[in-house]
Amino acid sequence: MRCLSFRLHVFLPRALKSQVLLSNRSVKFPERLTVLSNKYKVYLETRTFMSLQKERQAPSEDELQKKLSSFEYHVLREGGTERAFTGEYWDCHKKGVYECRACGQPLFRSETKYDSGSGWPSFFAPIDEDAVKTRVDSSHGMVRTEALCSVCNSHLGHVFPDGPTPTGLRYCMNSVCLKLKEE
Ligand SMILES: [Zn+2]
Repeated sequence: MRCLSFRLHVFLPRALKSQVLLSNRSVKFPERLTVLSNKYKVYLETRTFMSLQKERQAPSEDELQKKLSSFEYHVLREGGTERAFTGEYWDCHKKGVYECRACGQPLFRSETKYDSGSGWPSFFAPIDEDAVKTRVDSSHGMVRTEALCSVCNSHLGHVFPDGPTPTGLRYCMNSVCLKLKEE
């Protein structure tokens, strides 16, 4: 079942607020619609019921501030970017599952990781279609597709349409947003 979620983000320093206000009706709606103003961003998304349930178990903002380093917090919660070729995983070839560093949700398998030459860890598919959600990011004068953890809404990176087969997608992630659980 897919649900409509209405999310209001208010931009205040260190206080990214979001709230699902409507989630109990099955609706047909464009995947996302972003309305921008100076202080608010409104997102309408269709989400699976399971992902909305999981979101309720996500760590609170206070817990994340204590758990994460200031750089991890900046990238995950404030949409920052690590410099190319500096992260822990861009050149990592170990086997395992990459989890969200904020909440621990499994996001990518090492089997889908490939060398994109970008200097950031790149994958052609998430572990599960509901693990990583996307939305339009119109910051920095570009229109890009932002990738976020579906449980805790943390920023992970961006998705580009220049990946390899079978999906043709490149999930360009920040190492600092991931934690490899080796197998
Ligand atoms: Zn997460």
